[in-house]
Amino acid sequence: MLRGLGEIKKNQDRTQELMSKDRINYIFLKDRESAIIRFLTDGDEVILANFHTVEEVTPKGKRFSKHYCTQDLTCKYCAQGVSYGEVIFLWGYCKYILHRTQNPRIDDDPNAPKWPRVRSGDQVYYKEDVNGPRIFSTGPGKGGAYKNALIKYSATYKTLLDRDYIWERQGTGLGTTYTLTPKDPSKIEDSVKELIGTLPPLEKVVKGEIISLSGDTAKVADDEVEELDVEVSSTDNDGFEVIEETDEELEEEDIAELF
Ligand SMILES: [Zn+2]
Repeated sequence: MLRGLGEIKKNQDRTQELMSKDRINYIFLKDRESAIIRFLTDGDEVILANFHTVEEVTPKGKRFSKHYCTQDLTCKYCAQGVSYGEVIFLWGYCKYILHRTQNPRIDDDPNAPKWPRVRSGDQVYYKEDVNGPRIFSTGPGKGGAYKNALIKYSATYKTLLDRDYIWERQGTGLGTTYTLTPKDPSKIEDSVKELIGTLPPLEKVVKGEIISLSGDTAKVADDEVEELDVEVSSTDNDGFEVIEETDEELEEEDIAELF
């Protein structure tokens, strides 16, 4: 039993938090953003499936949603003549994402993590330490570019699991391109390696039969979230110089957002 609206609200917040942490997330990048990924699905387990892209008109405008194609008579989108295309899926462990803008969730949720500003080369980014399992999915790319990159790296290194990859996006809309760049080989951390046997089957995720991490794998994600504190003016675990955020810079940003 809960007594008092404070208790009730706390309980509700906790439930929502657990639900959102348990949900299977996809790696999503905006223009000029990049993610560091360790694949957890090897070459012989990569899934390629056909997905229909359905246009939906909402009060906010047009939206496109993706629907798995069963490729048989039971597919209602095939029956309607909706076009489809290939989508490739792998499980990945996303270490971090370099964003161009601060965490947009902060606007709605004061408890949402604030991403530290870091410098990489001559660029400044907002670094989201993800440190959790994510679905890596992509179309085949122009001329099968992304599909061929995966095939090439898997053949060259005899595995996709022996190193981290940088997945980078450039451009928007039809001008969007991605680049998959292998890093030097490195040992997979034990806690990451353990995920391989415990994640939900990729095939069921692709079909939409499973939408959440369950049991032990969800707990792994929970544990990781706690270590987000970052010291200012130091180097973080990934070797980035973390930039001290002065009040002046914050104000500039606030002003910029008003226009
Ligand atoms: Zn279909």
